Formats: sequence, structure tokens, C-alpha cells
Amino acid sequence: MDLGCHEGYPGHHTFNALLESRLVRERGWIEFSVFPLFSPMSLIAEGSANYGQKIAFPGASRVRFEQDVLFPLAGLDASDADRYYRLEELRGRLTYAGNEAARQYLQGQMEREATVDYLVQNQLVTVDAASKKVDFIDRYRSYVINYNVGRDLVGAYVERLAGDDPERRWAVFVELISSPRLPSDLLE
Ligand SMILES: [Zn+2]
Repeated sequence: MDLGCHEGYPGHHTFNALLESRLVRERGWIEFSVFPLFSPMSLIAEGSANYGQKIAFPGASRVRFEQDVLFPLAGLDASDADRYYRLEELRGRLTYAGNEAARQYLQGQMEREATVDYLVQNQLVTVDAASKKVDFIDRYRSYVINYNVGRDLVGAYVERLAGDDPERRWAVFVELISSPRLPSDLLE
């Protein structure tokens, strides 16, 4: 669900298809046919890709769909699903430790080994997973914050404008991902 919504619908593929259709084709703004990865746009791109699942599956509908359709398809026992969702929610809060690890590592305050250790301790990941995260930080640097800070930014914006009306949320979300925006436009 995370991967499908993030990469496909209503995440990256939808975002890029809408930019291409509304800005490049309808308006002829050729510069939007290029997506600069290391740019302010990525905070909104990754943030909306992560938040999009809440738009496509509002309220309890994601859990219902997973329990009714995906768990049986995968041969998983759905009776323990509540614990899984609780764990997932708690683990989600730990993602911010990754931002802090990246900050200290990139500023030269923490060596690689200490950063791996920090992630193991604070994000509750394996050494192998932590090491891969440091590889990601080496390559993409502060890009790591786009996923959680971006999701929070997009979520706060959509919820501020649309309240908890699912249809209104869709409308605000679609408008957001099909128009040229900077992260500062989303602040109050
Ligand atoms: Zn992404």
C-alpha cells in the first residue's frame, strides 16, 4: 500500500502526469518537462507521495481494504492486525531520528559508524538497514527530510484548507500537485 500509493497513485506518477498535462501540454511551460530532483519541489513531491495514501484511502478504509483484500491474498492472519498498525504508527514517529542522524553526519559531528549506531538505537532498525540509510544520506544528503517533513507540511496544508471532508481534501490535493508551488506557499 505504501509503495503503490507513494510511487503510483496518487503519488509520483500522478504528480508528474498532472504537471505534464496541466503545465507542459496545456500551457506550454516546457521547463516543467524537467524535474530537478535537488530542488524545493521535491519536498512537495515526496511529501504528497507519502500523504497521498490518506487521500486515496481516507479514515479506516485503508485498514479495511488491507484486512479484507490484501491480507487474505498474501495469506496473512488479519486477527493480529491491530498490533501491526499500532507498531507501524509508533515506528513512523521514529523517522525523525533519521533527519537528526543526517544533520549530525553531514555537518561532520558524527562519523559513519556512530551514525549507523545512532540509527540502530533511535530508529530501531538493523545494522544493515542503518548502513543503507547512511549510504542514502551520502548520496542524497538533506533529501532525507522530504519524506517526513514534506508529509507533515502537505498534510497540515490539506487539512487546514479542507478540514476532514474527504472530497474537499481530494480537491485541495489535486490542485496542489498540479500547480507550480514552493514549500513556503504551503505555510500558514
Ligand atoms: Zn518518492
